Amino acid sequence: MHKPHIPLEELEHKAEACRACPLYEGRTNLVFGVGDPHARVMIIGEAPGKNEDLQGEPFVGAAGKYLNELLGYAGLTRDKVYIANVLKCRPPGNRNPRPEEIEVCTPFLREQTRTIDPVFIVTLGNFSTRFILKTDQGITGLHGRVQQAGHFKVFPVFHPAAALYDRSKQDLMKEDFTKLGQLLQAASAHADSDVDTSTQD
Ligand code: SF4
Repeated sequence: MHKPHIPLEELEHKAEACRACPLYEGRTNLVFGVGDPHARVMIIGEAPGKNEDLQGEPFVGAAGKYLNELLGYAGLTRDKVYIANVLKCRPPGNRNPRPEEIEVCTPFLREQTRTIDPVFIVTLGNFSTRFILKTDQGITGLHGRVQQAGHFKVFPVFHPAAALYDRSKQDLMKEDFTKLGQLLQAASAHADSDVDTSTQD
């Protein structure tokens, strides 16, 4: 029997009360996630940075502005996707998430993903890619190629913050998000033809 999906508001309340790792002590705000709860595309980053912690929303600083621009190459806008991070509280000094923090925090992400049930998961950078794909492979070898994780199509790309000041990565990001747009169109066309076939007499 399938477990019922937990509503996002209920999950967010649970995360607000979470004391499972020491990161809650330093946070200004929990950064749970934002966007369309029925999105076909879920974007997963690493952890909140300074601006995200202050505003309680993922990807609001320079990397967020760049992400919005990249979404445009895929024919998407920020309000059409759902954006979340692997960790919900800011690591001090923007250090990398620690394995024990990822372990105790990711049940929230897992439930978010089950509830939103997107068609595509776009993982940004090494941490979310490794977590979603259960791999040790790095983003450099994985970006821009569709992978499968359960019934989700996973599309890894570099983290926008890493590409922000690296011209060579910016070209790859543009290519990858353009490809994502093509994949989304193809998936829509496929879904439409399934509907046509299923509604034929
Ligand atoms: S980072 Fe995650 S596990 Fe740690 S306190 Fe915040 S919500 Fe809880």
